[in-house]
Amino acid sequence: MSECLKEFGKFNSFKLPGSPVLNRRTPSSQFVLDALKELEHPSAQDIVDWIRDKHPNTKRGGSLTSVYRSLNALVEQGELKPINFNDGHVRYEPISQNRDHHHHFICVRCNAVALLNTCPLEPFIKQLTPDFKVLYHNLEIFGHCTACQSKAQ
Ligand SMILES: [Zn+2]
Ligand SMILES: [Zn+2]
Ligand SMILES: [Zn+2]
Repeated sequence: MSECLKEFGKFNSFKLPGSPVLNRRTPSSQFVLDALKELEHPSAQDIVDWIRDKHPNTKRGGSLTSVYRSLNALVEQGELKPINFNDGHVRYEPISQNRDHHHHFICVRCNAVALLNTCPLEPFIKQLTPDFKVLYHNLEIFGHCTACQSKAQ
């Protein structure tokens, strides 16, 4: 038994290792998935604001803590990926298996984001070790957008 499972057993001896705790859909997980359908690249705080706006009566599931817990669970399940635009927020988007797969150009001056709709990495990743189940990959490209380049340096 691995160290990890031994630790787990100490605190949760009534639970079988591998019980599908994370697969349980909490009210918050469903809110988070709904929010991600409507918001582009939201942060956890953006999702909390969306939930409070759409479901003002919710107590459970509307706090930043429960949203973070749901976001982490959904990332582990391979439904979402965290992305970093270096603007001080971790942002999230659904992992799409189809042609919606995209990457990002980010202007470091005005924070404009443009989408890159092709993926140079997918053929490469497919050749990597079959022992590693890939859930997602990130590719963000940073620079100065056209508008910012034409402003005074
Ligand atoms: Zn995106
Ligand atoms: Zn710019
Ligand atoms: Zn890609």
